[in-house]
Amino acid sequence: MKTVGVLALQGDFDAHAKAVERTGGRAVLVRSPEDLAGLDGLIIPGGESTTMLKLLNEEQLMEPLREFGRRRPIFGTCAGAILLARDVSSPAQESLGLIDIGVERNAYGRQIESRVARVTPEAEFQSRTSPGEMEAVFIRAPIIRRVGGQARVLARYQDDPVLVEEGKHIAATFHPELSSDRRVHELFLEKLA
Ligand code: GLN
Repeated sequence: MKTVGVLALQGDFDAHAKAVERTGGRAVLVRSPEDLAGLDGLIIPGGESTTMLKLLNEEQLMEPLREFGRRRPIFGTCAGAILLARDVSSPAQESLGLIDIGVERNAYGRQIESRVARVTPEAEFQSRTSPGEMEAVFIRAPIIRRVGGQARVLARYQDDPVLVEEGKHIAATFHPELSSDRRVHELFLEKLA
């Protein structure tokens, strides 16, 4: 069984831990650099990326996370995707820079902060997991404005990428942990070979 760390400084880490266990993995909460030892992969949950960043710096976790990401897969949702991105705007802030994407924070605006949408994942995603459209829960989500050459878009919503993979890492601007569909967590667990 694969052991997946879930960064638990802030945000909806509990929903991710449950999603990992529903998908057949073992979830371990991560709050300090020592907690990274022995993990097969890590999830950075949704929440508030500015707050998470502050806590990551306080716990001296930024460099250990970058180092972990050079060896092992990381999956970030929403605030987690913002932390994984290379460039962050609106406003600009520090990030781990492990996926070559540019994200604009809170890009859907205040009027439509949150919504539940149906998206049709790319054929590649459907063939690697299973076929069918997917529910996507957006909560004060960022928009991925730039996708670098090595990154692959696995799903779009209104033409904007919402699920992106680069090598071993995955970023989603929505919250798969809040839907019953397990395919994004399945895809992540498959990377933990
Ligand atoms: N708006 C948040 C941020 O910029 C992300 C929201 C979320 O993770 N659901 O960090």
